[in-house]
Amino acid sequence: MSSYRKCYVCGIEKPMDEFYNDVSQSGGKKYECKDCCKKLSKEWQLKNPHRYWSRYVLNNHKHNGYDIQLSVDELTNIAKQTDICPICGKLLVYNNGTNKKQSLDSPSLDRINNENILTVDNTWIICLECNNLKSVKPLVDFVKFCDMVATKFNHLL
Ligand SMILES: [Zn+2]
Ligand SMILES: [Zn+2]
Repeated sequence: MSSYRKCYVCGIEKPMDEFYNDVSQSGGKKYECKDCCKKLSKEWQLKNPHRYWSRYVLNNHKHNGYDIQLSVDELTNIAKQTDICPICGKLLVYNNGTNKKQSLDSPSLDRINNENILTVDNTWIICLECNNLKSVKPLVDFVKFCDMVATKFNHLL
């Protein structure tokens, strides 16, 4: 078996360790080189920000021990319908919601009743800033809290 392979995307002949493992392909390696793989997945991410984000978030929650009863398709649908944060109204930026590059306008998953289980009905997407502030509080407690602060500091507004 040759220790080189020609990448079918860029056409450059590269050593086998420049290709990711893939048991379903001949030689146990992918046909496109690592560089091309990274470029393709980046392009895919830019073209499918909602789906990319959904896949990332569900993996993350699974990893953290949540009971996931929500498919990537279902979450992608919710994401596509949630362009702005339903709490504060700021525009959500799906492309920076992953890989520890989050900012305050990144989307984040919030469980409406804070159970350890994720379903279509108890999940919504709010901005990271609202999620940080709301923390694990049920929405109604968060709103009461905001109301308390707003009443006390009304003179500043
Ligand atoms: Zn290549
Ligand atoms: Zn918000």
